[in-house]
Amino acid sequence: MGDAIFVQKSGLLGVGIVARCGVLTPHQLSGLARLAQELDCQACKLTTRQTLIFLIPEDKLDQLRQGVEALGLRIGVFGEIVRNVKACAGSSQLCQRSLADVYELAGIIQDRFMNRPVPNDFKISVAGCHRGCTEPFCADYGVVATGEDCYNVYLGGRGASKKPIHASLLAEGISSEGVIALLDYILERYTALAQPKERLCHTISRVGWEAFRAPEELLERFRRGEEGDFLSFLAQATKEGK
Ligand code: SF4
Repeated sequence: MGDAIFVQKSGLLGVGIVARCGVLTPHQLSGLARLAQELDCQACKLTTRQTLIFLIPEDKLDQLRQGVEALGLRIGVFGEIVRNVKACAGSSQLCQRSLADVYELAGIIQDRFMNRPVPNDFKISVAGCHRGCTEPFCADYGVVATGEDCYNVYLGGRGASKKPIHASLLAEGISSEGVIALLDYILERYTALAQPKERLCHTISRVGWEAFRAPEELLERFRRGEEGDFLSFLAQATKEGK
């Protein structure tokens, strides 16, 4: 585990900067632009995990750290930790297809779980509808909104690999509180069952899916009722103009 700072072949440092689920305020954006010019940044690269890489000379690192913190952002971390949450723009303000305010939920998850130590990289993706723009089926823990405060959870996916793995359905129709409680439960199981540096998908295939099945009492506590399902259907039908 360490800061997301990588020496490039050119000798420059690639430094990963994390915002809250990839959303920047105008103040942060203009502050970053100013920093990039002041620190002789050669390029700023957007990553698939919604971070921003600054390519800077090594002697500018301390200034970048200070500047990033002053803007309310942080340097990313990699290794055996829960990574920053990859969240779609799903909210009434940012994407009209969104069935729930997933940006808010993803922010809470990132604030609470990011950087938590685990046996290996643990990636979380949250999507506001079944389109899944953030690839929730390729994440260790994927969340897809199916209605207002109603989510399906998928477990054990893995993208960016020679052998990608499609996540499996873990829970259906639970509330945002349930998504958080279930994540806490899964991280505990993963930490208890995994061998050192073992990715979750490999732990699942070694010990079996049953070891990760969510307890019925937990699901029951957070399950959304039929009324919620109907409202979701109604919301979706209205959006699609049925
Ligand atoms: S997953 Fe759905 S809600 Fe999220 S950005 Fe894509 S279309 Fe919009």
